[in-house]
Amino acid sequence: MVRVAVGFGSNIGDRQDHLDAGLGVLSASWTPVSRSSLYESAPVGPVEQGPFLNAVAVFETTAGPAEVLSLLLAAEQSRGRTREVRWGPRTLDLDLLLYGDRTVEEPGLTVPHPELTNRRFVLEPLLEAWPEAALPDGTPLGGFLPAVRDQHVENVGPWNVSLWRRTWWRLLKAVSRKQ
Ligand code: ADP
Ligand code: MG
Repeated sequence: MVRVAVGFGSNIGDRQDHLDAGLGVLSASWTPVSRSSLYESAPVGPVEQGPFLNAVAVFETTAGPAEVLSLLLAAEQSRGRTREVRWGPRTLDLDLLLYGDRTVEEPGLTVPHPELTNRRFVLEPLLEAWPEAALPDGTPLGGFLPAVRDQHVENVGPWNVSLWRRTWWRLLKAVSRKQ
């Protein structure tokens, strides 16, 4: 089993609903370990758009890195994610932040995620969900927090998931185990 950290982001429509749905898809295939609170952050980059809701969830899985990425892309697509504008608004953005202590350099997949240490909206929830998270060379990620503290990110409370949705996932998981 490998421990993977996934960054979640949404800034269109019912943002928490998109995050919850993404969590549901991933939890149906992998073992959920922990998740962060929800964080609100101002968008970065050149495109004018609404604020993001961000969070990080940690899972254990036997899936390889490429397989992990393909489930992330499928989950994004299940929320109608389209890629018209680079860095533009999105219903659901799922990034593979860490894949155990492995470095992956493949076409279309770089792990650890290249922006991981520069973005407070990723680093802070990641450390909340996985306090001992480290780069593949062993550098603890906590050491990068002071440098991004000037970026504005607000913890807006626990990532609670409604009871009906939890029940639905348990069902989905039971079905996927039987296949
Ligand atoms: P971003 O998240 O940087 O705003 P996108 O979500 O549009 O951009 O992702 C663009 C591409 O980045 C994806 O199609 C994927 O192949 C690639 N990619 C490379 N490394 C990763 C990673 N670690 N996690 C997620 N996507 C990645
Ligand atoms: Mg992405």
